[in-house]
Parts: sequence; structure tokens; C-alpha cells
Amino acid sequence: MLQDRLNEVEERIQRAAAKAGRRRDEITLVAITKVFPASVIQDAWALGLRDFGENYVQEFESKHPEVASLDGARFHFVGHLQSNKARRAAELFHVIETVDAPKVARRLDEAGRPLEVMIEVKLSGEPSKSGADPAKLPELLEALRASRNLRLIGLMTMPPWSDEPEVSRPYFQRLRRLAEEYRLPHLSMGMSHDFEAAIEEGATHIRVGTALFGSRKHA
Ligand SMILES: *Cc1c(COP(=O)(O)O)cnc(C)c1O
Repeated sequence: MLQDRLNEVEERIQRAAAKAGRRRDEITLVAITKVFPASVIQDAWALGLRDFGENYVQEFESKHPEVASLDGARFHFVGHLQSNKARRAAELFHVIETVDAPKVARRLDEAGRPLEVMIEVKLSGEPSKSGADPAKLPELLEALRASRNLRLIGLMTMPPWSDEPEVSRPYFQRLRRLAEEYRLPHLSMGMSHDFEAAIEEGATHIRVGTALFGSRKHA
């Protein structure tokens, strides 16, 4: 079941990469396991997946003991990070994809662990969305450069939801231009329904939940 879905996702990635003239190994599949139990992470690891994404610090804290020893597993935090949870997040995760304020960056740095981070950029006007305004990027970059333990590797975004991938594409293009402007190598963009468009626009990390694990409503 999971193996079949993984095969399908893998084929989609390879087709999109080929269409864009990109190599498969430029793209990291981050399996989004929020809501699902730790056993799902173990099953996915057994099939060869190594990068996992979670949205809630507390939820992952409860799964962590069962997955911490999986060899080579890397855990990405992709949810909204409150500064009062940052220290704990720094202990549990390898990559924090959603830094969106200098205060969060400082708190992560204070944890004293080497971390890779991305800045989450808010490219739509939706008030409910988290992420940094593109105008705030210089300030955030400065806070990250002043940190001792954080290595800024790229930008992440989540376009307004639409089941039509072409609606996401202009947001992916904008994120890519911002990453070029600030010379950042990685782009985390694209989910189950639109990752082909993201790969065509340069995604280095795609975050895929539903296409691998099914609907979260039945988890
Ligand atoms: C849940 C989630 C995903 C995965 O979405 P799917 O549509 O299930 O693939 C990706 N990124 C973030 C930030 C998420 O919260």
C-alpha cells in the first residue's frame, strides 16, 4: 500500500524532473507525517525514506522516542513555530523550515545545537498564513547571519490552497526569484497536488503527505 503510493510519487518526481531537465538527486522528498503515528515513520523509513516533516512540536515530541534511532533519518519542522517552543524544536529536529521572525531565530540559536534553517516566506495576502513578509527578509537574514548555530540554507513557502497546480506556479516562481536575489541554494515548495509544478520551478525540497499516506482525516 505505502510501497505503491511511494512508487507513484517517485514516478511523478522523475517525470517532472525529466521534463524540467533536472536530476532526480537535486530533489529531496520530505514525507509529511503529521497526525500519523510513529509506526508510519518507521514503515516509510523501512522503504527508504529518510526525510520527514512534522507540524507540531508537541505531537512530534510524543513520537520522537520511537523514531529517534532510525539510522540516517532527518526530521524537518514545517509548522508555525512559536518562539516559546523554539528551544524544544531545536532539540527534536534537524531542519527548521519555518523561521519567520528574528525572535524565533534567536531562540533557536540559544538552544546551542547546530541546525539547518529555512525562512518561510509569505507570498499571499491571506491574514491567516504565517511566514515572513518579503520586505522583512533583509532583517531576518541579518539575525541569522549573527547566529552561531543556525545555517540558513533556503526559503520555504506555502501558496494559498487550490487544487489547481497552475494557481501555485506564480508563487513558486516568486520564491525562486527571491532565493536567487539572496543567493540561497534551497527551495522548499510543492505538496501532494502541485509538486510537479514546484519541481519545474526549481524546488529542491517537496513536502508530500496525502499522496504517500492517504487522507489525514482517517489517520
Ligand atoms: C500538511 C503539509 C504538507 C503536506 O500536504 P499534502 O497536501 O498532504 O501533501 C506540506 N507542507 C506543509 C507545511 C504542511 O503543513
